[in-house]
Amino acid sequence: MSTTVCPPGTAPVTPVARTRPVLTVRLDAVAHNTRVLAASARRLMAVVKADGFGLGAVDVARTALAHGARALGVTTLAEAVELRLAGVRAPVLSWLDAPGADLSDAVLHGVDVAVPSLAHLDAAASAARRLGRVVDVHLYLDTGTARDGCPPELWPALCAAARRAELAGTVRVVGVMGHLACAAGLDAAANAAATARFVRGVAQARAAGLRPVLRHLGATAAVLGLPGTAFDLSRVGAGLVGIDPTGRYPVLRAAAQVTAPVVQVRDVGAGVGVGYDHTYRTTARTRLALLPLGYADGLPVSASGHAEVLVHGRRRPLAGRVSMDQVVVDVGDLPVQPGDVATVIGTGDDPAPTLTEWAGWAGTLPHELLTGLGRRLVRRVVPASPCPTDFPEEHP
Ligand SMILES: *Cc1c(COP(=O)(O)O)cnc(C)c1O
Repeated sequence: MSTTVCPPGTAPVTPVARTRPVLTVRLDAVAHNTRVLAASARRLMAVVKADGFGLGAVDVARTALAHGARALGVTTLAEAVELRLAGVRAPVLSWLDAPGADLSDAVLHGVDVAVPSLAHLDAAASAARRLGRVVDVHLYLDTGTARDGCPPELWPALCAAARRAELAGTVRVVGVMGHLACAAGLDAAANAAATARFVRGVAQARAAGLRPVLRHLGATAAVLGLPGTAFDLSRVGAGLVGIDPTGRYPVLRAAAQVTAPVVQVRDVGAGVGVGYDHTYRTTARTRLALLPLGYADGLPVSASGHAEVLVHGRRRPLAGRVSMDQVVVDVGDLPVQPGDVATVIGTGDDPAPTLTEWAGWAGTLPHELLTGLGRRLVRRVVPASPCPTDFPEEHP
């Protein structure tokens, strides 16, 4: 038996990390998170929108499917087609296409589409009619976001029209979906109201003669903290990549790490202004280390003045403002040299700042930071080890 089937620790430094900023994608963490979340859901849909939250839609999808996910979710047909062209055969649902979009790709690639309006229903039905096929749809009820989904007052008419389309042989209503607006805060009253609205919507669909087999309402936060919202399927995105929107369940593993090499150091005295507008001034003799990544790589300017990185095993502050392509670290008296590697975003396995800390410094969500990591970072993908359960301590 292998001694390190699922090492949870920090990814080792590879030679490229000494010369280029590197984004390490931990598919082993995605696998772990999928198993954890699948254990609490009746059926798990892995949401891999926005290129799998920036970590690679196909990689995240394949990993999730291999570790307990039964279906995939995306926002656009283009994302769904990317999965199909990569050979992914699992059920895929796309939920944010414009009704004017050509939905032929849904029919041709066997992709389910969400239907929040009569216009969307017509688009799906006409694509199916044109191609002589049936398209599977999930009627999408707005359960309280006032964002996407069908407003409740229009829902009975949508259900009736969907039933007519079923009888005409163009669509099949396989699902009814809603979405929780206040899941992350585990707001009991708001989630109870949304759940009641959803249950009523399902009853109205059934009254119209529809027989949706997949009722789905909750996402990551609901799987973690709102067991009453589970129904037949849970659409989980953030949790796959290690983001717990509630901040209360330390069971997930971060799937992204960012490192950067030191490309230059300089020793300076007290009172030296650093970077644009000298927003930072040294207070004593110190060493400044330059890292070649900045806001074009996804580091938020708004974290300037707060952010730290890990170098030589110690946390040291950024000095001055995050620039487009670079940041300066005040490393104090640490003997940092060019070629040393700083951990900018860590996975929580070492003292490096985590994505959640960066989000706090920047006043944003970890989701935004992760999906904004730039294309210039070298990507290193750690595969998901064949690790059915989480038991590193059981190995010799
Ligand atoms: C993004 C999204 C999800 C996934 O939510 P997470 O919080 O990332 O798990 C589920 N459903 C809909 C409609 C979404 O837009």
